[in-house]
Amino acid sequence: MGKVGVKLAVGCAVAACVVASVMVGRRVRRKRAWRRVVRVLEELEEGCATPVGRLRQVVDAMAVEMHAGLVSEGGSKLKMLLTFVHNLPSGSEKGTYYALDLGGTYFRILRVQLGGQRSAVIGQDVDRRPIPQHLLTGTSEVLFDFIASSLKDFVEREENVSERIPSERRELGFTFSFPVKQTSSSSGILIKWTKGFVIEDMVGRDVSECLQQAISKKGLDMRVNVLINDTVGTLAVGHYHDEDTVAAVIIGTGTNACYLERADAIIKCQRLLTMPGDLVVNMEWGNFWSSHLPRTSYDNDLDADSPNPYDQGFEKMISGMYLGDIVRRVILRMSEELDVFGLVSSKLHVPFILRTPLMAAMHEDDTPDFREVAKILRDTLEFSEIPLNVRKLVVRVCDVVTCRAARLAAAGIVGILKKIGRDGSGGIASGKNECASRSEMRRTVVAVEGGLYTNYTLFREYLNEAMTQILGEEIAPNVIIKVMEDGSGIGAALLAASHSTSSVDTVQIP
Ligand code: ADP
Ligand code: MG
Repeated sequence: MGKVGVKLAVGCAVAACVVASVMVGRRVRRKRAWRRVVRVLEELEEGCATPVGRLRQVVDAMAVEMHAGLVSEGGSKLKMLLTFVHNLPSGSEKGTYYALDLGGTYFRILRVQLGGQRSAVIGQDVDRRPIPQHLLTGTSEVLFDFIASSLKDFVEREENVSERIPSERRELGFTFSFPVKQTSSSSGILIKWTKGFVIEDMVGRDVSECLQQAISKKGLDMRVNVLINDTVGTLAVGHYHDEDTVAAVIIGTGTNACYLERADAIIKCQRLLTMPGDLVVNMEWGNFWSSHLPRTSYDNDLDADSPNPYDQGFEKMISGMYLGDIVRRVILRMSEELDVFGLVSSKLHVPFILRTPLMAAMHEDDTPDFREVAKILRDTLEFSEIPLNVRKLVVRVCDVVTCRAARLAAAGIVGILKKIGRDGSGGIASGKNECASRSEMRRTVVAVEGGLYTNYTLFREYLNEAMTQILGEEIAPNVIIKVMEDGSGIGAALLAASHSTSSVDTVQIP
């Protein structure tokens, strides 16, 4: 071999070595980075862990906070609001009633015909529309004018002119699912907005009055005769169909619960309560807080970036408005650790871009190569090629976030049951021995409504599984969760009917 040949051979060998070492170096770096990403996942799993022992602590904390919220105004982060609803529909209601359901992504208008026999809702028309985004942050006048116009259109479209007696005024139940301080069963003052609504001029004003004025301005002959929130509507429908229904829970864009409480247990309002028996209490449980809740840095960041920091802590860990965004934050953190996601997508920095239904679709992707996950990451977050192991990682993140949410919601439900002595343990204030109360455990129904629970199968399964784990195999069969489709709207119409002739209990709350 001549000199040139030797030089060439040496040169090639050196080049091969350089290429090999670059490749090895890259592989080592990639491996290390992958390990860091897996560590991010492990930390998430640890931070979100909800072993049954911890859930039982949440149950106890919920029951204790409920009690504190009933003893004094401001005694707990749970507002435990009085609703003035004590006559739940009996099943004998007759006639045609309207309902308006405002409180989340959509608003719904309903027209319900009642036949006078339990379970006989003989006709029902529904109009469901998204609330235009700009109305969430405008003025109350613009919002209610829009709603009243929609209501008028609906009435004109659905009503057969001949079937109506002109002297009869239409009656409407208004479901308004934000924290309201009721002053009667048909009026109440907005305490604060949640779920992305920010209309400052409404806070402190009577919600029914705003709607009534807008309706009258449109020349529509209709009276707002009951003001409730979605939980109360769902409880009303649940009770209409099954008298063992004691509580209702909403798990949709937001989350909240109400339940039937003994009037004498509502210590803070004793002088306002003129009737004995049970009364519906709106817990506003989205604001529940306890040191036992498993919280992560992602929750802290989401809270700090939200328009209502330190508020609605339970809701921000559970409801559909937030789950997708928790997942987005975790993926963002992972993508900063490693370029497995391709170049960090700028879309990944956009808050709420990954909506919960998309997150659910990734979580429930059952194709062998997680094709749906890749498609959603590509279409929504503009990621390019996503390797299979990364797709699996994303599914795992969705699983951890949803599992925690569903199990916490289950703990909240058992907390309510504990407060009213329906969890088989004899309740928080009872000195009864456990064995005796186990044998006395009555059939207990909890009505549930909301898109997260009804549309997201894995969420539902996690929640149901946790209920059994917390209550135990022996007690759990006595507690039945029943889905009430459109409960919040139909319930308002049912309550409009049950309050149609009864006198309205008006009380001035200081
Ligand atoms: P709202 O709470 O606005 O009254 P819904 O009860 O229908 O309305 O709940 C809608 C919410 O449910 C959505 O904001 C979304 O977070 C969640 N959701 C709807 N569909 C799905 C789905 N397929 N998977 C997971 N979550 C869903
Ligand atoms: Mg709703």
